[in-house]
Amino acid sequence: MRKVAIYGKGGIGKSTTTQNTVAALAEMGRKVMVVGCDPKADSTRLLLGGLAQKTVLDTLREEGEEVDLDDICRDGFGDCRCTESGGPEPGVGCAGRGIITSINLLEQLGAYDESTHTDYVFYDVLGDVVCGGFAMPIREGKAQEIYIVCSGEMMAMYAANNICKGILKYANAGGVRLGGLICNSRKVDNEREMIEELAHRIGTQMIHFLPRDNDVQRAEINKKTVIEWDPACPQAEEYRKLARAIDHNEMFVIPKPLTIPQLESLLMDFGLVGV
Ligand code: ADP
Ligand code: MG
Repeated sequence: MRKVAIYGKGGIGKSTTTQNTVAALAEMGRKVMVVGCDPKADSTRLLLGGLAQKTVLDTLREEGEEVDLDDICRDGFGDCRCTESGGPEPGVGCAGRGIITSINLLEQLGAYDESTHTDYVFYDVLGDVVCGGFAMPIREGKAQEIYIVCSGEMMAMYAANNICKGILKYANAGGVRLGGLICNSRKVDNEREMIEELAHRIGTQMIHFLPRDNDVQRAEINKKTVIEWDPACPQAEEYRKLARAIDHNEMFVIPKPLTIPQLESLLMDFGLVGV
């Protein structure tokens, strides 16, 4: 089983990208489990057709320790399995702790035991890595393979670089590796070239360039992934390409994060072309 975590700045498109990729993998016949690790608890909405899921932390708070797998795990599109870890009450406690509590509980309950024949578990993790809590899945060896969603916007690249620092910190001890950057386009000038170059300088690859497309919103309003909502639309094909690239990926590296001056000079080189 491959243990994959999707990281990236808030609002960059982690949950959308994760769920569409999972839907595409499910179409390919892969058995996938998705674990939302964002207190927002919206990592599985498109796979479940709405926010149908009570979070692990809420379930534990309300029902105590006697929790069954069926209480915290629902079947979604393409027979994928969906869990939301949830978070502490706003302003109280550590979200990272909650994530680990949830993952440990899922493991204890056998959510992805060998007997379940699960091919992938995807962790959708909020991560500007300002707080060590969000590095928990990396730190505790829960995730082996990381993909970072970013765009050509400076703050998205800055966050991606910070996440690389987090991976680097634990790579030697835990064996976690970076599988690539996913560029989720914001239509920035020279975006594809800039993210390809950022990936190259970090020592990784841009595994796929996802166009910005309003079909994502149309599907979202209908509480569906693009793959389910309109399997024939061009954006569905983009998610399939990303899913195939991840399925076939063999490039797993320890990243080499850039310094801030290096990051800024990359932005100057690409961002100012044609000005
Ligand atoms: P995150 O999980 O990183 O916080 P989301 O996946 O919730 O981000 O995405 C934030 C918003 O961006 C969503 O409303 C989604 O519809 C939109 N979005 C994400 N990717 C795309 C895309 N490729 N094209 C158009 N809209 C997108
Ligand atoms: Mg999200």
